[in-house]
Amino acid sequence: MGNVMQDGFGRQIDYLRMSVTDRCDFRCLYCMAANMTFLPRQQVLTLEELQRLASLFVGQGVRKIRLTGGEPLIRPGIVDLCRHIAALPGLRELVMTSNGSQLPRLARPLVDAGVKRMNISLDSLDRQRFRAITRNGDLDQVLRGIDAASTAGFERVKLNCVVMQGRNFDEVLPLLQYAIDLGIDITFIEEMPLGDVGRSRAESLCSSDEVRALIATRHPLLDSAENSGGPARYVRLAHHPDTRIGFISPNSHNFCGSCNRVRMTVEGRLLLCLGQEDSVDLRGLLRRYPLDDQPLVSALRQALQRKPLRHDFSLEGEVQILRFMNMSGG
Ligand code: SAM
Ligand code: SF4
Repeated sequence: MGNVMQDGFGRQIDYLRMSVTDRCDFRCLYCMAANMTFLPRQQVLTLEELQRLASLFVGQGVRKIRLTGGEPLIRPGIVDLCRHIAALPGLRELVMTSNGSQLPRLARPLVDAGVKRMNISLDSLDRQRFRAITRNGDLDQVLRGIDAASTAGFERVKLNCVVMQGRNFDEVLPLLQYAIDLGIDITFIEEMPLGDVGRSRAESLCSSDEVRALIATRHPLLDSAENSGGPARYVRLAHHPDTRIGFISPNSHNFCGSCNRVRMTVEGRLLLCLGQEDSVDLRGLLRRYPLDDQPLVSALRQALQRKPLRHDFSLEGEVQILRFMNMSGG
């Protein structure tokens, strides 16, 4: 058996979420402020540095890597990066989260490069609303991307939907129907308080229990013990076996006890928890020791002992986590 990484609470860490860019062609209102400043180039890890980090984590016991961002598919060279990471011996699966805008042209090359599963964000099926939520996204382009992904040969395609009162709660059933028609999964996510987006998140909070209750008015639901290695809890639809519904509920159901992951920001900060500010700079070590991984391995192993027991998200009062989701490898 290869290396195994454990944190100070005995949780096995075998999942890395890597941000490959903080930039994005959308400006979703729960993820970013309207006027974002992005990182200067020299602070961003190069493709070679990202690849080296991926290789190092896999060598230490990571079995699953998710590439994310920002929008991972606007990073030049992303397909080659995927090909290199997917080929790392010991990695079980390379997966990705995308807003779908570039999938009409990239879905097939990504499958060929070895990306196994694709999560695509979709919060509305109404063009104007979609544009309002993403601030500049084109719904038709994303729907074409979802179609391309559904037929490209990924082992699984899943939709991600952040549900907000007053914005898209009334679209939960149409979005679910859309997933059912395509025979793909859908996960409904509670909005997380990351970064100051200029409005109170508590006002639009929509709990997973409310979403589930709404779905249950239309569809008989079957509880499921399935686990895809993430924080989602799943239910199945009695009459539509091809679609699973996931719920990610950071505010209403704490899932930290089974946390198996860490995140790398694209500036090379290792985040031990999405809901805490603590991080460890690995970029400095990467650049100081271009040929020697040992200092990085030691820093990583020490950092894991600092992984907190749970997040401290609170929707009330001051914004506690200043980092936006696009910076966090969400
Ligand atoms: N750009 C890609 C996308 O949108 O799928 C990948 C990066 S995005 C940060 C990853 C996921 O985080 C998306 O599903 C998005 O909806 C979700 N997300 C962003 N900000 C969030 C927040 N404040 N609370 C909950 N989910 C959020
Ligand atoms: Fe971009 Fe994804 Fe953030 Fe939306 S959620 S602004 S698509 S990074």
